[in-house]
Amino acid sequence: MGGTPLPDGIKLIDENGKRLDGRRPDELRPLKIEAGALKRANGSAYLEWGNNKVMAAVYGPRECHPRHMQDPTKALVQCHYNMASFSVDDRKRPGPDRRSQEISKITSEALTHVVFTEYFPKTSIDVYIEVLQANAGTRCAGLTAASVALADAGIPMRDLVASCAAGKIDDTVVLDLGKEEDNFGQADIPVGYIPRDDEIVLLQMDGDLTADQFKTGLNMAIEACKKIYDVQRDALKRKYTLPAGKTDEGGGVN
Ligand code: UDP
Repeated sequence: MGGTPLPDGIKLIDENGKRLDGRRPDELRPLKIEAGALKRANGSAYLEWGNNKVMAAVYGPRECHPRHMQDPTKALVQCHYNMASFSVDDRKRPGPDRRSQEISKITSEALTHVVFTEYFPKTSIDVYIEVLQANAGTRCAGLTAASVALADAGIPMRDLVASCAAGKIDDTVVLDLGKEEDNFGQADIPVGYIPRDDEIVLLQMDGDLTADQFKTGLNMAIEACKKIYDVQRDALKRKYTLPAGKTDEGGGVN
């Protein structure tokens, strides 16, 4: 991010308005979600979004440890985002870092807005997000998968959170940045959205945008979240309506 020029003058958008992977500016990467991919978690979801592969698992509500963290009035939604060492080209140093702590925090906050935490005092709802393959947009992919995993765990929620980023590349506002667009682009705006309440639960911005570009990007991300929301609901419907013994092959957009 930050407008670094691409090597050899390669453009992120060609003369036909197409991006490096052939997408139009307002086009999402292909998205597939499978609810209940893990047997031993209380709820889970596996997501493939472009070249991102993410697993989300939910445990709880269960007694919150250490006890001094307990809230006598509500549950804590504790998200643990982790990027596997093998998820990126340059091996990532294993273990938590500032970036994973930041993503865990913003994801926990977004999910706390939708879970009826007051139903489960003194407990913790633990959400594990494991990024197995990363290609930009993993915080949005993680939040989208985690919402489905929470619903799969049967945790009462106001609604699902759908998440998607918009951004700016070659002075053009585009949807759902890929890896090169994230690295060499000018701005990135990850958004988490609840369609039913028309409410934003996550909003970040990296880079520079004019006020108009920001509004265009935000609207683009919100419209995309509505499509992602349909894919999330569809994943849950498939899991809970498939005949016993039949496995899900994942639905999706594109
Ligand atoms: N990335 C990486 N190594 C790292 C962290 C990130 O290669 O240690 C890549 C990865 O593909 C990630 C992208 O950079 O998806 C963008 O990271 P960012 O922090 O913007 O978060 P994201 O877009 O994944 O939500």
